[in-house]
Amino acid sequence: NKNQHLMFSITLFGRRDRLLLVHDVTRLKQLEEMRKDFVANVSHELRTPLTVLSGYVETMGMAAEMLPQRWQRMLSQMSEQSQRMEAIIKDLLALSRLETTSKQQPLPVAVKPLLEQICADARALSNDRGHRIELQLSGPANIAGFSDELRSAFSNLIFNAVKYTPDGGEIHVEWVEQDKHACLTVRDNGIGIAAHHIPRLTERFYRADPSRSKETGGTGLGLAIVKHVLMRHGGDLQIDSEMGKGSTFVCRFPL
Ligand code: ADP
Repeated sequence: NKNQHLMFSITLFGRRDRLLLVHDVTRLKQLEEMRKDFVANVSHELRTPLTVLSGYVETMGMAAEMLPQRWQRMLSQMSEQSQRMEAIIKDLLALSRLETTSKQQPLPVAVKPLLEQICADARALSNDRGHRIELQLSGPANIAGFSDELRSAFSNLIFNAVKYTPDGGEIHVEWVEQDKHACLTVRDNGIGIAAHHIPRLTERFYRADPSRSKETGGTGLGLAIVKHVLMRHGGDLQIDSEMGKGSTFVCRFPL
């Protein structure tokens, strides 16, 4: 029955004794589905009123010079916060889509132009902060997958490297083939992450340094998106970091 989910486990004792345990996890699965639907619906419902509010804030901003200074400051705060909320909702919807849409037929994705484009965007993001962003491309030209999803995962990693590396820092992006895997490595010499945070970084809204993340406009959902995209591509993510020295994120895709 496809609406019923059972988990089996068989324990072997001596020569004769066998124990078969059957757990009915149907209710757990149903709750999980309800959670996914709820998050998707809330995000979707919040989007329209927020777009209206942002529109008004933007229109008021055009006449900001007519307002007293204190009100101008409030208006710019309102604009900043509504942009943050829009970014969070956009990421929540992206995550919901990754969780709920069934996999389609994968297509060949040309990884090299994709990474060149993302690195160009990252240089624009760094702007006058003077990061050196180096790109080395020797891995396979294509991998099978979904271009939009890979773009979003790779941009999250590369933009994070810019966000969490002080001005003038170095970021290396490498696309190589290794042990029958295509690997993307994003290495920075930025602020680094304490070891105890690393296992939890791909949880939604988990941040090693919440105030820094908010300061840089982070939604706290980027690495959760990366994890889901990699899962849908049969890949995995490895994170290595040292406080004050920098971080390395490696995405591995089986070839
Ligand atoms: P955020 O939007 O907060 O950046 P992410 O899910 O992308 O959320 O990342 C989760 C947390 O992991 C960040 O808040 C930050 O603490 C840490 N992090 C991610 N990338 C890096 C990096 N390159 N260097 C240092 N810390 C990082």
